[in-house]
Amino acid sequence: MKEFNTDIVVIGAGPVGLFAVFEAGQLNMKCHVIDTLEFTGGQCQALYPEKPIYDIPAYPEIKAAELITKLEAQIEPHEPVFHLNNQVIRLVKHSDYYEVTTNKEVNIKCKAVIIAAGCGAFGPNRPPLQDIEKYEKTGSVKYLVNKIAEYENKNVVIAGGGDSAVDWALSLAPVAKSLSIIHRRPKFRAAPNSVSQLNELVKLGKIDMVVPYQLHSLKGENGKLKEVILADMDGHEKALEADVLLPFYGLSMELGPIAEWGLNIDKKHIAVNQATMETNIERIFAIGDIAHYEGKLKLILTGFSESAFAVHSAYKYVFPDTPLHFEYSTTKGVAHKEAS
Ligand code: FAD
Repeated sequence: MKEFNTDIVVIGAGPVGLFAVFEAGQLNMKCHVIDTLEFTGGQCQALYPEKPIYDIPAYPEIKAAELITKLEAQIEPHEPVFHLNNQVIRLVKHSDYYEVTTNKEVNIKCKAVIIAAGCGAFGPNRPPLQDIEKYEKTGSVKYLVNKIAEYENKNVVIAGGGDSAVDWALSLAPVAKSLSIIHRRPKFRAAPNSVSQLNELVKLGKIDMVVPYQLHSLKGENGKLKEVILADMDGHEKALEADVLLPFYGLSMELGPIAEWGLNIDKKHIAVNQATMETNIERIFAIGDIAHYEGKLKLILTGFSESAFAVHSAYKYVFPDTPLHFEYSTTKGVAHKEAS
């Protein structure tokens, strides 16, 4: 077991968890951050890294991945310790501290816990195809798109009928050698404007719409994909040349062990006191998409504000003998960067 001691453990390295590290650092509190994913950024990085976001204050437009890069730069002076690819499996309460344990034998003692776990630990819904793991290992089957440039001159097959499938078909069609979109129904469940654009590109011959078909099997050598085999509703098969398959069948989101900690949870959301972001359990806070109170807006900017409330409330548990003096960042500066 790897043992650590810190002030605050933040569960979830999405945008809101990352900003909590900054706010905590401004009050001289150190953080360890745990995430099940191999990378930081939560939904922004996993689901829509290349999409522009338009409602981050002072950024008329910023790509989701760039927002995460900027947050990482902002929190860097506060030296957070990351435990990525780790899922929190246990929380043990002691008189004035908690012990948080992950599935990778990491054990952290801390004065407060901030849960910024979004919708829970998420992973893709994988299609039940034989040997799919072999193709996942080589990157022939992927569940998220990190860089559009990786798809240049590739034969791309996208499966699914929702927003992700349609949006990525629109984004990848201009760079791919060929792009096919497979759906088991002729009707797509994406935003009407996106569906119109899709139909336009199909008419122009830039996208091959293969409906109503389902994925049947994969063909290739040593995990390198060559063909995706489809079947229609009567079982008639059809082969598509493919270098990469992107199935977008949604995400499974699991709160996992968090659901068993006695927190006030309703439909995968944790009830908090909006003034403090503290849950029904002392020293445990929830912020971002997972936190709920009347009138809650699930937006990144709301989560940023909630993280400020949470760390200001957590301060008393970390420094019980030192009163908190409120100071602007313009007065206080940032760790190594003094205010001018
Ligand atoms: P998340 O981003 O969900 O991050 C939570 C993290 O916690 C994840 O990385 C997860 O792996 C981790 N985690 C969960 N459980 C555990 C566990 N037990 N142990 C360890 N780690 C765990 N919002 C806007 O404000 N503006 C927009 O324009 C906008 N556009 C969007 C477009 C799309 C397509 C989507 C899907 C969302 C959009 N959102 C937008 C919503 C925004 O992304 C979320 O509000 C935001 O990501 C919430 O941040 P978070 O940090 O609370 O949670």
